[in-house]
Amino acid sequence: MRTVVVGGGVVGVTTAYYLARDGHEVTVVDKAGELGTDATGGNAGLIAPSHSFAWASPQAPKMLVRSLMGEATAIRVKLSLDPRFLWWGMQFMRECTTKRARANTVVKLGLAQYSQAEMYRLEEAEGLLYDVVKKGAVYLYRDEHELEVGLDKMALVAEHGQPVKRLTPDDLVALDPAFKNAAEVVKGAIHGVSDGSGNSEKFTTELARVCREKLGVRFLLGVSALRFVEQGGKVTTLVTDQGELAADQFVLAAGIQSPIISRTIGQDIPVFPAKGFSITAQVLDDSATPTVGGVDEKTLVAWSRLGDTLRISSTAQFDGYNRSHVPSDFDNIFKTARELFPGAADWDGAQVRSCMRPMTPDGPPIIGRGTKHSNLYYNTGHGHMGWTMACGSSLLLADAIAGRRPALDMDPFVVRTRRKGR
Ligand SMILES: Cc1cc2nc3c(=O)[nH]c(=O)nc-3n(C[C@H](O)[C@H](O)[C@H](O)COP(=O)(O)OP(=O)(O)OC[C@H]3O[C@@H](n4cnc5c(N)ncnc54)[C@H](O)[C@@H]3O)c2cc1C
Repeated sequence: MRTVVVGGGVVGVTTAYYLARDGHEVTVVDKAGELGTDATGGNAGLIAPSHSFAWASPQAPKMLVRSLMGEATAIRVKLSLDPRFLWWGMQFMRECTTKRARANTVVKLGLAQYSQAEMYRLEEAEGLLYDVVKKGAVYLYRDEHELEVGLDKMALVAEHGQPVKRLTPDDLVALDPAFKNAAEVVKGAIHGVSDGSGNSEKFTTELARVCREKLGVRFLLGVSALRFVEQGGKVTTLVTDQGELAADQFVLAAGIQSPIISRTIGQDIPVFPAKGFSITAQVLDDSATPTVGGVDEKTLVAWSRLGDTLRISSTAQFDGYNRSHVPSDFDNIFKTARELFPGAADWDGAQVRSCMRPMTPDGPPIIGRGTKHSNLYYNTGHGHMGWTMACGSSLLLADAIAGRRPALDMDPFVVRTRRKGR
């Protein structure tokens, strides 16, 4: 079976791996000159099922209103009359009930847990090196009340098998002495005991090497997918800026670009970009740099130790496909970094960038066969958790394509324009 995968981020490359392992003759097409450079190359690095909470929650609408009024909130919205965003936003609002937020969180959590286990299995089976740290992740609270609220919130993931532990500031330092300064500003933390962190770009390029050398996968880099061509309910060809690719099957895994490409063949999918900002700074003082990743729950800044660098990211800004950034976009990151980890890394020389999360309104990604074409599959819309969820999503898709029973119920991931009955 000849299969073309569109997109060479962590989702596309893991898809290619599992399909090639099943005997497909796989070609991956990516418009960038290297693999894993988009969202996969700029994320916070956390492998964190404990952080599976759906963004669409009862608190979100108030936050969006405050953002529109100019407040610096965690989720920010630029006023837009883009019909695609309005359509996406209406679906997001519908998911902001307690019941829906809980259900969406549980679905994401199940996928994240399954995926993390699969990622570690893959790491061992293929000997992948990607700066992985398996010491959990910490969620820091600067306020006693917020810590209690955080613990209540975490009860949901704990009920579903995710081990979490309350930490005092002293416990935090005992876990990782680099939290010495952080311990002075926080009232406590929650330890997502089985969470971790790692470099998803390295994971992607390492796995691509295995795909190429062991499984014969072909990578066409610097090739932009433009549109699909169909005939008789099947996709026959992918048209690229450098010619046409015929295949028996196609998988769309192009992150934020997936809906643009899927519309060329009449399939609308609710994926919209949420821009984030991230920095990568060279470690200067090992003892002041945490190996345990985490999130400052006040400033919503997340970090991971990636080898001899520290990756730190924050913010979710709905601003269409505008990737631009200005120096002040990184103020929150630098302020938090200097406060929690003073002297740890070369903040002045840090590389800065923006990157975009491919968000669905409810949270669960879109995985499976499209409704309109019998040989077009989707693996996209992984939002703020795509690094954590990639391996599991791709294995589920490969199982579905092979006719094996996937390990999880696939209904929540169905290819959709909108959720029916909500
Ligand atoms: C700031 C930030 C922080 C994050 N932190 C975390 C975290 O801590 N933990 C976590 O689990 N997740 C995190 N995420 C989410 C995670 O990074 C993404 O969900 C994940 O990388 C999505 O992978 P992907 O392969 O779908 O998309 P991408 O990595 O964006 O890959 C899509 C690929 O498709 C290619 N492409 C697009 N259009 C075309 C075209 N027309 N033709 C050919 N190729 C095309 C692109 O070049 C790109 O390589 C974060 C994301 C952001 C932005």
